[in-house]
Amino acid sequence: MKRILILFSDTGGGHRAAAEAIRDALLAQHPNDVKIEMVDVFRHYSPFPFKYMPEMYPWIINRSKTSWSMGYRLTNTHNSVRLISRGMYVSIEKGLMRMLREHPADVVVSVHSLLTRLTMQALMQWEQRPPFVVVVTDLVSTHAFWYDRKVDRCLVPTQPAFERGLESGLNADQMRVTGLPVHPEFTTRLKDKATARQELGWEPTLPTILMVGGGEGMGPMYQTARAINDKRLKCQLVIIAGRNQTLKAKLESEQWNQPTHIYPFVTNMPVLMAGSDILVSKAGPGTISEACIAGLPVILYDAIPGQETGNVDYVVQNDAGVFTPNPPEAAAAVSKWLGEGAEGLKRRSENALRLGRPNAVWDISDEIWAQAQRPPIPTNRRNLFIDLTRDLTKRVPVKTRRF
Ligand code: UDP
Repeated sequence: MKRILILFSDTGGGHRAAAEAIRDALLAQHPNDVKIEMVDVFRHYSPFPFKYMPEMYPWIINRSKTSWSMGYRLTNTHNSVRLISRGMYVSIEKGLMRMLREHPADVVVSVHSLLTRLTMQALMQWEQRPPFVVVVTDLVSTHAFWYDRKVDRCLVPTQPAFERGLESGLNADQMRVTGLPVHPEFTTRLKDKATARQELGWEPTLPTILMVGGGEGMGPMYQTARAINDKRLKCQLVIIAGRNQTLKAKLESEQWNQPTHIYPFVTNMPVLMAGSDILVSKAGPGTISEACIAGLPVILYDAIPGQETGNVDYVVQNDAGVFTPNPPEAAAAVSKWLGEGAEGLKRRSENALRLGRPNAVWDISDEIWAQAQRPPIPTNRRNLFIDLTRDLTKRVPVKTRRF
């Protein structure tokens, strides 16, 4: 039995989605040979203020994109990352060590940029450590936080993310371009349109516009939905408010000119995407990657500056969609696409499909499984004598050195 520990944080919906995708692919491939634990590191093993990272993330971005953008750019250098990580490590070291004790593993996987260095540093405190794999879950404009030369494997979604890794000092053979992990249900069990619509209780024949603002319902979703509504198009509208309860309540209090279905956070995205024709979304890497596999062309109404900036070019340059950063423009694009009829939508759908990487999650799962077969790795810390790969839950670790 191999034990795999997957580290993530609920900042947005993408990290959890990637962690679940990897978990379920591993379980599908090795049903009797693997035990997988997923840990939200900031929520469960970090002190204030990091503990509230999942709440702080959408709050900051929704209130001040400019500050976020500035912060992103200022911190996106090797030196800043080293300094910030050291500062953060001092605060959360105790929690990280407790987490590693409570979840002994044969391989540790991280799908969150901020956890790369912190976890590596914590692992290096032990005499022996399990291999550490980083799965990069931003698509193109990847932050320097993602990269640490000491990791055993760094799996990236695109060539630009690979190049960024090289710039950060990683070796080419330490990395692999796999694509971004998307849930196996998108790759093996995607329903046909008619079945999906019937299951969801949607109109069977109307062109269907699906709106998503990531897990948190971020960006001007309300204004964009109302602008589409004002066009009085022959379509049905599906709006996923995610964890944004205020947005959901506001949408529900409105009158709509076409059949409109409003959902809170959903757990059946593969079915919703299978039943739709056009996706109107913020430029979230997870949602874009899922849409491409489902053959859904994308109208991007918003992008978080920094980590999502590159996603816009990725979609537009590959003809999988357009960027319309204000509500009237987004509504005009929906109207134009619908006006092109079934043929136009089919052509756009084929473009999106070409960008999809349905094998990514399986390749990532194979890579992790291969790392899980390795023996524990000595850290060459001479004065330490703890083997982290043994079950240490009942023992107190002896930590003797920080860097
Ligand atoms: N998602 C979901 N249910 C929802 C809204 C979103 O499962 O109600 C998933 C979506 O399918 C995707 C992830 O949450 O896998 C969002 O990730 P993305 O990278 O697009 O954006 P983030 O929320 O991380 O900013």
